[in-house]
Amino acid sequence: MDRPEVPELAPPDRTLMGPGPSDVHPRVLRAMATPLVGHLDPAFVEIMDETQELLRYAFRTDNEWTIPVSGTGSASMEAAIGNVVEPGETMLVPTNGYFGGRMAEMARRAGGEVVEVDAPWGEPLNPADVADAFDEYQPDVFGFVHAETSTGVRQPDVPELTGIAHDHDAVVIADCVTSLGGVELRVDEWDIDVAYAGPQKCLSCPPGASPLTLSDDAMEKVLSREAPPRSWYLDLSLLEGYWGDERAYHHTAPVTNVYALREALRLVAEEGIERRWERHRETAGALKAGVEAMGVGLEPDDEYWLPSLNAVSVPDGVDDAAVIDDLLDGYDLEIASGLGDLAGEILRVGCMGHSARPANVSLLVSALGTALRDRGADVDVAAGAETVAERL
Ligand SMILES: *Cc1c(COP(=O)(O)O)cnc(C)c1O
Repeated sequence: MDRPEVPELAPPDRTLMGPGPSDVHPRVLRAMATPLVGHLDPAFVEIMDETQELLRYAFRTDNEWTIPVSGTGSASMEAAIGNVVEPGETMLVPTNGYFGGRMAEMARRAGGEVVEVDAPWGEPLNPADVADAFDEYQPDVFGFVHAETSTGVRQPDVPELTGIAHDHDAVVIADCVTSLGGVELRVDEWDIDVAYAGPQKCLSCPPGASPLTLSDDAMEKVLSREAPPRSWYLDLSLLEGYWGDERAYHHTAPVTNVYALREALRLVAEEGIERRWERHRETAGALKAGVEAMGVGLEPDDEYWLPSLNAVSVPDGVDDAAVIDDLLDGYDLEIASGLGDLAGEILRVGCMGHSARPANVSLLVSALGTALRDRGADVDVAAGAETVAERL
């Protein structure tokens, strides 16, 4: 094997307006360059406590069981589902997007039976359908996606959904990966038992340590399981030893990622969580208005529009992949294509965390309008740019 000659790391300087990761705040990048301490160092224990306190603030919860799970959002997702769902139990999942499908897959691997509540891609769940599914299947666990990144749909009526589930003594697991820190989310007030998220969406932190919170009741269910969960790494009864009072070694915490998450959450607390939700509504609102002023549609109804992920309709005859390439090549600007049922139908434009800034939105609307026009769409780029300028 020859000695490889690899150049110094020099990735392009992109503006990240896709479905995640989003632009990382410079303060978070700096936190990641901080020297390590041991993962059981008393100084790190304090950093863990502070990170947990900041996570509770962002989730709007008093849950003691609030931790960053080592890994990406899928790790906190699998920690939630793999610990809560016991073999032979039934989990109700939605069909209205990509991530509901992933919930189903994880529940099956945990040994659960999966049943579905139907809604088309691009629409939220209807509470009446959820109630019908509960009457029909009596599931033990109900999972839903608060912010469906594959469709740009925000699930409204969350307290109604959790109420239905609790009337049937089911545990509610909410996917909040694309809502935490960007879209109104109130874990305690809305009676969500288990919520998981990711750092690289509205928290604008690199992927690697992913928020998870469980109520006392949900944790009691986990701790009284008959058989341990199938994953050793994500076993919450073992992680309790590290993140709980004992502070015993389980696995080495990703120290740098915890530093990053702590700093990202400090930024959330400085801004104020409600102001942060408002900022997302305002900047993404300008993006939406700008796109619509150009004569291009934004898919979901206003009632369940998701500010952090905007599903822009691909105009007739336009090649979505070419538009995405044009933005990357011409403007160092990242957006993404549609997935699954919406492949080729939508462009997914994120407006998350540090990316949700006026300068990004101006660039996005002008660049997207130009690329769509170059690729044959009939769009009024100037009207879009003007609308954004007026709104921001
Ligand atoms: C991104 C995402 C995930 C998975 O997170 P990863 O960090 O990619 O593992 C899960 N659910 C939703 C809604 C997401 O947007």
